[in-house]
Amino acid sequence: MLTAITGVNWGDEGKGRMVDLLSRDYDIVARYQGGNNAGHTVKNERGKFILNLLPSGILRPGVVCVMGGGMVIDPAHLEKELASLREKGVEITPANLKISDRATVCMPWHVAEDGLEEDRLSASGSQFGSTRRGIAYAYGDKYMKKTLRMGDLVHLDEGRKRHLATIVEWKNLTLERVYGAKPIDLEEAWAWCQKYGEMFRDYVCDTGAYLAEADDAGKKIMFEAQLGALRDIDFGIYPYTSSSNVIGAYAPIGAGLPGHKLDKSIGIMKAYSSCVGEGPFTAELAMTEEEKHLLREAGHEYGAATGRPRRVGPFDVVASRYGAACQGADELALTLLDVLGYMDQVPVVEKYLVDGVETDRFPMGTQLDNAKPVVRTLPGWRCDISGCRRWEELPEAAQNYVRYIEKAVGRPIRYISVGPDRDACILKDGE
Ligand code: GDP
Ligand code: MG
Repeated sequence: MLTAITGVNWGDEGKGRMVDLLSRDYDIVARYQGGNNAGHTVKNERGKFILNLLPSGILRPGVVCVMGGGMVIDPAHLEKELASLREKGVEITPANLKISDRATVCMPWHVAEDGLEEDRLSASGSQFGSTRRGIAYAYGDKYMKKTLRMGDLVHLDEGRKRHLATIVEWKNLTLERVYGAKPIDLEEAWAWCQKYGEMFRDYVCDTGAYLAEADDAGKKIMFEAQLGALRDIDFGIYPYTSSSNVIGAYAPIGAGLPGHKLDKSIGIMKAYSSCVGEGPFTAELAMTEEEKHLLREAGHEYGAATGRPRRVGPFDVVASRYGAACQGADELALTLLDVLGYMDQVPVVEKYLVDGVETDRFPMGTQLDNAKPVVRTLPGWRCDISGCRRWEELPEAAQNYVRYIEKAVGRPIRYISVGPDRDACILKDGE
């Protein structure tokens, strides 16, 4: 069985938290895109973890984790992430971590280019708000066919060295002549490849073959996304997107099973809106600075990967309905509902005003840039619901808020998360 856990919004919906919970029923968790710009926070009986590259199933003994070919992997970051998890007692061996030989390597110069270009853009205020971890540059070079894959690092022959030499020669033209930066030394780059090739030799394999065999044997496979639908390179708020396809339809491809279809797509959707970085974000126009400050504090909205304050706003029906459709979500998990417990009235963005006309269709380009939120308020519940574990225990106003969102988005909400801890979740059966 193949299930995708995806983000419906702009990311940080609590995907890591839901993967940690739902992976109890799965044998394998595979990340299918993105790199260490991800920040998935997981809190359980083993402690609090922030995962950047590793799938969130890594904390469950018995679950095998796969880093798929659709990912971009910075091996230097992976080395640190593995060390920090092992320090906390998490066992990670080639038996429970498999790295795709097709995954793109994020080279040190991708990180350097990301920083150089963001700095250049910042001078005119036109920066993207990149995490500066080189992800866009690594994906760009993947499509230019000018980087290496993880499988190359473990087979460093003469052919690989010639390929690396042409990459370094080309890259130095940009680094030196465009940015006036230090050039890459080929021998240093080669030594870097050798070091990480050795380090991850036993982990790198044909994960597609592994997954196909597991699927044939009836194993349950979960695909874990990074970011949300509105950051998808094709369907999101381009150019303020990620550089990969985050949508569920890509999950089997990015994980290594290109000919397979998903059995289930579970969209993770936040009870209000948050967004890191630049780009149009209509929901934030629906709150005053003071209201946004209160929400940011209540939800601890600071990026897990970067520590940056996240932009916030009310739940956005227009964007979420679009996001859930992009994800082909069969069911939804509504997360962080507890955060709204301080509000007397809970605002939601019900429609957009585009060119003077109300619409419930998510626009793109200049129409999105100029869209204004049409706000409606629902009664708040004014209490702490983080201890609730059953639907009946939720106050009526909270139930009504969930029902309203479910109807507005048009897909069933099956899980309601009321806290960051593993068990702080309500299973909502069809009413
Ligand atoms: P991801 O990138 O989608 O995995 O989400 P992040 O981990 O970046 O952001 C979600 C944040 O909300 C994390 O700090 C989680 O610990 C926290 N969180 C997740 N679910 C809930 C919830 O239901 N209630 C509260 N209060 N916090 C939650
Ligand atoms: Mg995150």
